Amino acid sequence: MKQNKNNFKYIAEQFADLMILRYRIPGFEELPLKQKELVYYLYEAALCGRTIIIDQHNKYNLAIKSILEVIVKHYKGNRETEEFKKFMVYTKRFWFSNGIHHHYSMKKFLPDFSADYFKSLIENTESEPLIIEENGAIKWLVEKLIPVMFDPDVDARRVNLDPDADVIVTSSNNFYEGVNQREVEEYYSNMSDKNDPEPVSYGLNSKLVKENGRLKEHVWKVKGMYSASIEKIIYWLSKAYNVSENRHQKAALKKLIRFYKTGNLKYFDEYNIEWLKDTDSIIDTINGFIEVYGDAMGYKGSYEGMVSIIDIEATKRIKAISSQAQWFEDNSPIDNKFKKKNVKGISAKAINVVVESGDSSPSTPIGINLPNSTWIREKYGSKSVNLSNIVEAYNEAESESVLKEFAYSEEEIEIQKKYGALADNLHTDLHEVIGHGSGQILPGVGQPHQTLKNYSSAIEETRADLVALYYLPDQKLIDIGIVPDNDVSKAGYNKYIRNGLMTQLARIELGDKIEEPHMRNRQLISLWAYEKGKPGNVIEKKLKNGKTYFVINDYEKLRELFGELLKEIQRITSEGDFETAKNLIETYGVKIDYDVHKEVKERYDKLNIPPYKGFINPVLNPVYDGEKIIDVIIEYPEDFTEQMMYYSEKYSFIFGNIR
Ligand code: ZN
Repeated sequence: MKQNKNNFKYIAEQFADLMILRYRIPGFEELPLKQKELVYYLYEAALCGRTIIIDQHNKYNLAIKSILEVIVKHYKGNRETEEFKKFMVYTKRFWFSNGIHHHYSMKKFLPDFSADYFKSLIENTESEPLIIEENGAIKWLVEKLIPVMFDPDVDARRVNLDPDADVIVTSSNNFYEGVNQREVEEYYSNMSDKNDPEPVSYGLNSKLVKENGRLKEHVWKVKGMYSASIEKIIYWLSKAYNVSENRHQKAALKKLIRFYKTGNLKYFDEYNIEWLKDTDSIIDTINGFIEVYGDAMGYKGSYEGMVSIIDIEATKRIKAISSQAQWFEDNSPIDNKFKKKNVKGISAKAINVVVESGDSSPSTPIGINLPNSTWIREKYGSKSVNLSNIVEAYNEAESESVLKEFAYSEEEIEIQKKYGALADNLHTDLHEVIGHGSGQILPGVGQPHQTLKNYSSAIEETRADLVALYYLPDQKLIDIGIVPDNDVSKAGYNKYIRNGLMTQLARIELGDKIEEPHMRNRQLISLWAYEKGKPGNVIEKKLKNGKTYFVINDYEKLRELFGELLKEIQRITSEGDFETAKNLIETYGVKIDYDVHKEVKERYDKLNIPPYKGFINPVLNPVYDGEKIIDVIIEYPEDFTEQMMYYSEKYSFIFGNIR
């Protein structure tokens, strides 16, 4: 498929609550050969680790995966029946989530077909031998897997954060076995030295198990757990090392290889420090055990791979914002005593991804800020990136039907079409580059996660969003040449209010509350502004043909309200005012207006647009002349199944241990 923006097919398919998209890779064709080669090696390294996360999510996942895929490939019966279509939907959901649990809710999803039908599929599949079949154990295996797949009470949640439960025992990921929460806490608190100013990320790269009554870590490294995948990753990273762009990138790759070989977390820290120094490379990669959201206790890193090319134009825009960081701080509506005297914009850039795998695929973030180690961030800073081509694909795929359904007027629709993408990008830039880095905490108060506890994430996201919203209409952005006119901020404000008061509710089950911190923050800001603006009719709730709309009447007054709330949120953060944080979030961010929610769900359902999106990756094919790569060609698979089956064939190096 051509990469040309005008005829590029962004939407591939949809099923269940998921939509599958494609992204372009602007700038790839123009790369010099040596950089294309580097991209290709890093791409292979990223994909070689992709099955690790499937095993990390649940220890039965890889066994289930191999059976599902053998059926997809070799089932001899009728594939046109409703039952078989349901089987395919289940299989695609499994691929999308990297396992049996929903990627977002963490709850296990159940097949829409019976266990008996599943058995009949296996009986009618003349397969190349399943790995486990060699010991004649296929029957035993299927009996073992059926409750895991079909019984709602078995392994019900991948991650359970309920503070009243043992979060280790009740989470069914594969990071721990035979241990409980107290044992995990003790194990890692004994391991860490509280006085070490530069502690490694204890537990990041291992499974903790109890064997013969003793706790033991199975480390993910060469000759350790996941060795077969890790050896392949190292093979490709070594090739990348040979064609790296500069000495910092070379040094970083060397440390990363050493980390994978030894499993020693010191090397992972050293790798991250080198990686931070590499600010000049055109090509970059993330490869390792990175984010810890998959572990209720936050120790274990999920495998993630990503390769990217810098987006030069968008990076100029971010740098223009970043270079004015002190101006933004000085002109902010927050109290002077909470302002930083010396603020540095986060070093940020925009990238176009070439491939994603593991934790970032098929469902992907749109912005990333790494590394996660606190002391490294304090001492060496962090890298923040926006994923330009992913955002572009989201915007292109965002159905006009949603906009038409929830926007009140033709004018609102026109402004959104014209400036929506730019407004989104600016919002993200301001949020990440200025918002999170602004303001300071009063001495002796303590970090937000200590003072604001479970409300700290939502408050921090509120703060960063408010900085973005406050500055979006500022003349400064026009003066520094990144905004053409003030309609950009109107597009941004309209969408923010539409989303915060209505469209984001489509993701939530009727009757549920809002849990996710970003969603809490968006409703908090929107609802607070709506309520406080009532005397001046700043945001008006209107009815047209029996449908509800929220319409902004006074953009300038709305900006003032955002400034007012920003001032208060900064005070809460700086002083660690838990009670006010709790009160604000519980009042405006958690509870949902039932009638509005019901209406949104009904209107959304009619549009038949899935709430979650993910991506098919491009396939990179090297062209060889003898041993030498002379070009790398991008191709796109027709559909999601084709990509997943191709990956399965090419990148299955490890098999689950289900004992
Ligand atoms: Zn944020």
